[in-house]
Amino acid sequence: MTNAPHAQLIDGIALSAQLRQNIAQRAHALKARGLTPGLAVLLVGDNPASQVYVRNKVKACEDAGLHSVLERYDANFPEAELLARIEELNHDTSIHGILVQLPLPAHIHAHKVIAAIAPAKDVDGFHVANAGALLLGQPGFLPCTPYGVMKMLASIGCDVRGKHAVVLGRSNIVGKPMALMLLQQHATVTVCHSHTANLKAITLQADIIVAAVGKRNTLTRDMVKPGAVVIDVGMNRIPEGEEGAGKLCGDVDFAGVSQVAGYITPVPGGVGPMTITMLLTNTLEAAEREASWLETSTEATI
Ligand code: NAP
Repeated sequence: MTNAPHAQLIDGIALSAQLRQNIAQRAHALKARGLTPGLAVLLVGDNPASQVYVRNKVKACEDAGLHSVLERYDANFPEAELLARIEELNHDTSIHGILVQLPLPAHIHAHKVIAAIAPAKDVDGFHVANAGALLLGQPGFLPCTPYGVMKMLASIGCDVRGKHAVVLGRSNIVGKPMALMLLQQHATVTVCHSHTANLKAITLQADIIVAAVGKRNTLTRDMVKPGAVVIDVGMNRIPEGEEGAGKLCGDVDFAGVSQVAGYITPVPGGVGPMTITMLLTNTLEAAEREASWLETSTEATI
C-alpha cells in the first residue's frame, strides 16, 4: 500500500471539447464571410487502424462545421497518380488542408508524397518547409500530436521554462518536433531513443516526461520523480492472452505511474483527441490565412 497521492488527470476529451467549440465559432465566422474551411483526407490501402483514424478526423471536421473530403484508394494505387491527385488538391480553392494518412503501402515513398503537398496546405506539419520553420522558430504548421501536447501542458498552467523535459522517442512526427517545441518554450530537453543507456537515470530527473515510443510499460512507477507531469502519446493494443486483451493502452504503466506523478494523461482519452483537435486548428488557420490574403489582395485591386 502507498500513501502517495494519485496524479491529477489531464483530460484530452474535455480539453478538446473546449477547443473545438472555439474552432466551430471561428469556422462559422469564416463561412459568414463566404469561405468554408476544407480538409482533404487521402487514405491508400486498408490498414484497419488508419481507417478508424481517418473516419474520426472526417467526423471531427463535420462536427466543427468544416468541409471535409475523404478519398480512399486501394493498396496498389500508383504513386504517380497519388502525386497527381495531390497536385490537383494543391490548386483546389475549396481545400485548405491536405492530409495523407500514414503509413503508406511499401511502393509509395512517404517523403515524396509529403514533399508534394503545398506547405500552405500541409496541416500535418510534416513538409520540410514546416519542419524547417519549427527548427528555426519561424511561423508554420506545427505537427498535430506535439502541438496538442503543448496545449495540454498549457491547460494545467505548466510553464515549461527552466524545467527538465525528457522526450522518449525521436520520430519525425512526434519525438523530434516535441523536443523542438519544448526547447522553444525554454525547457531543458533530453531526447531518448532505443540506444539510450540507463533510461531510468534520465527519466528520474525529469519534471516533464513525454512518452512516444509505441511499447507498453516503457515508463514505470520507479522511473518517475514524484510530482512529475507525464504525457503518454503511445497507442498500443494489449496482446491476446493478457488481461484486457485488445484494449488500447499507452507507453506508460498508468496504474503505477499515477501513484507518483503530479499529472498524467490517460490512454484512450488523452493525447489522441488532442491530435485531431490540432488538425482542425491547423486547417482552420490555413483557411484564415487564405481569407486574410484574399482580403488584402482585393483591397490592393480596389
Ligand atoms: P516510431 O516512429 O516507431 O518511433 C518510436 C521511437 O521510440 C523511436 O525514436 C525509437 O528509437 C524510440 N524507442 C524505441 N524503444 C525505446 C525505448 N526502450 N526507450 C526509449 N525510446 C525508444 O513511433 P511514432 O510514430 O513516434 O509513435 C510513437 C507512439 O505514439 C506509437 O505508439 C504511436 O501509435 C503513437 N502515436 C500516437 C498519436 C496520438 O495521436 N495519440 C499520434 C502519433 C503517434 P529509435 O529512433 O532509436 O528507433
